[in-house]
Amino acid sequence: MKLRILGCSGGIGGDRRTTSILIDEDILIDCGTGVGNLSVEEMRKLRHVFLTHTHLDHIATLPLLVDTLFNDLHDRPLVIHALEESMEIIKQHIFNWQIWPDFFELPDKSRPSIEFQAMSAGETRELQGRTIEMIPVNHSVPGVGYRIQNDTGSFAFSGDTTTNDTLWEVLNRHDGLDMLVIECAFSNSEKQLSDLAGHYCPETLIADMSKLRHRPRVFITHLKPGEEDQTFQEITEGLRGFDVVRLHSEDHFQL
Ligand SMILES: [Zn+2]
Ligand SMILES: [Zn+2]
Repeated sequence: MKLRILGCSGGIGGDRRTTSILIDEDILIDCGTGVGNLSVEEMRKLRHVFLTHTHLDHIATLPLLVDTLFNDLHDRPLVIHALEESMEIIKQHIFNWQIWPDFFELPDKSRPSIEFQAMSAGETRELQGRTIEMIPVNHSVPGVGYRIQNDTGSFAFSGDTTTNDTLWEVLNRHDGLDMLVIECAFSNSEKQLSDLAGHYCPETLIADMSKLRHRPRVFITHLKPGEEDQTFQEITEGLRGFDVVRLHSEDHFQL
């Protein structure tokens, strides 16, 4: 299984891109501004999008992606996997003919460009040898993370979350975990804000990491612009027993 990090920042500016991860050539997790790194040829190979939640930094390029691929999607819609609540929000507020055309009924209702497949927390999808499990987390809107496994490795992505038990319980239920991409948006100086916004800060992240029985390689994502160095330093100073790395756009991994 190949992973390409398209975006992993909590904001934009310079080479910062917001959340999107490409798995092999056909699956996207989230649709932040990182999707703009893909060539049109690479976009044409996409078949599935798994969304963690509806915040703009995770869905910003979904409308533009569908529009770019429109002529390719007439007989083969792009499949969006997400919580029912998330898709209702996206239908109501994005594909509503006001912000963007309703690609759920374009070119016509019998041949939509996007197909929605609702997922519930705990559900899995099998896609050509890759098992993708949706995991509930604790964000300011309904949110999930995902665990992806194939014959050669396993990887988990937290999505946006603050303190929770669900992510850790699910990860511990499995035999192992090779790689964990986990968010930490704010530094400890903004703990109040991170609690309010449903994000981790180093203090809450480090406390939660003690719930994990596995020792995967840990990659920190979603650092807020301007606080990256401070936040990452606080994590490395406080987190014992893990190999921790800061994630960057265009990092590639093979699992
Ligand atoms: Zn969010
Ligand atoms: Zn976010």
